[in-house]
Amino acid sequence: MVKKRITKLETMSKSIIIDFTCPICNNSEKMILFTSVTAPKSQNLKEKLLNNELNMFNCTTCKSSCKIEVPILYHDINKQFAIWYSMNKSFVPAPPLNRHYLFNAKVVNDLQILKMEILLLENQILTIENKPKDEL
Ligand SMILES: [Zn+2]
Repeated sequence: MVKKRITKLETMSKSIIIDFTCPICNNSEKMILFTSVTAPKSQNLKEKLLNNELNMFNCTTCKSSCKIEVPILYHDINKQFAIWYSMNKSFVPAPPLNRHYLFNAKVVNDLQILKMEILLLENQILTIENKPKDEL
């Protein structure tokens, strides 16, 4: 029962709502921040992520916009791979609750590398190392 619920949660793109204060005019607005993008379901979010348009704050008062950098977990539930994208080089993700492909997610700090990794993994040119069998 519990296991089923965890699996369902992990197959959805995740977002949080935050109050963000515009660095230009100090206007505070609510915005949705995505922390996880799931392929192939969230095609729209994937495109935004790869175009560097995800988690963009657009101020309705002064019309300025700025990017909010948070670590994002990109995962593909069909091809079974996951990659963390974080601008912060010292970011270390918390391990997932149970051992599966999310456990092997590597961290990349560069959008170009993220694009390349996704392309390679989608076409199964590159494989994330399998978990050691003796640990099971
Ligand atoms: Zn503003």
